[in-house]
Amino acid sequence: MNFRQRKESLINHLIAGGVLKTPRIIEAFKKIPRHLFVRKNYLGHAYDDIPLPTHQGQTISQPYTIAVMTEALEPRIGEKILEVGAGSGYQAALLGYCVGSKGRVITIELKSKLVEFSRKNIKKTKLKNVRVILGDGKEGYVKESPYDKCMITAACREIPKSVIEQVKIGGRIVAPINDFFNQKMMVIDKLSKKKLKKEDLGSFIFVPLR
Ligand code: SAH
Repeated sequence: MNFRQRKESLINHLIAGGVLKTPRIIEAFKKIPRHLFVRKNYLGHAYDDIPLPTHQGQTISQPYTIAVMTEALEPRIGEKILEVGAGSGYQAALLGYCVGSKGRVITIELKSKLVEFSRKNIKKTKLKNVRVILGDGKEGYVKESPYDKCMITAACREIPKSVIEQVKIGGRIVAPINDFFNQKMMVIDKLSKKKLKKEDLGSFIFVPLR
């Protein structure tokens, strides 16, 4: 099977499982090939539904998890989205596709090697609306705030305060929050400056937010 067929079959598997639903998100999975974000030695596994190593002990998340988080965030055309943990750049690129050319994605990465890796990978797509920033995502990125939405792709004990502040009222944050042995995927709606509504989507496993 070639990449195109493997990608098609992974997407069909995620649709059949009821995970991928929204037409624009399905289109993003089709148009943004995961094999552009995977290191050479793992290319053969680019369309397996498993996480894969990026650099420095970090991973590109499992497609199933990425589908769950992207659907939960409900990205819309024209939105400005903050991601914490660029990693390979794949999730940021999917979001960049979903928000369209009038929308923007800012993604923060702590490790310089991964900033380089994700920038190089995103460049291979034709997206012009995704920017990778070297920094600590716990501080968010105030210069581009406020954001319509935020996705955190590393496990955290709680949502960093700065991130909550930098998301608009009415905005949404999707993040894996530490439990004892795994993480709970939380969807958090910012109803007002202080009031958050939280929904638990179940258990997942992530590398930690540092
Ligand atoms: N979204 C990525 C997967 C992220 S894995 C993808 O699509 O490939 C989690 C990433 O978060 C790792 O690359 C790790 O280096 C980064 N990270 C951990 N703590 C961080 C922090 N405080 N600020 C920014 N990035 C962080």
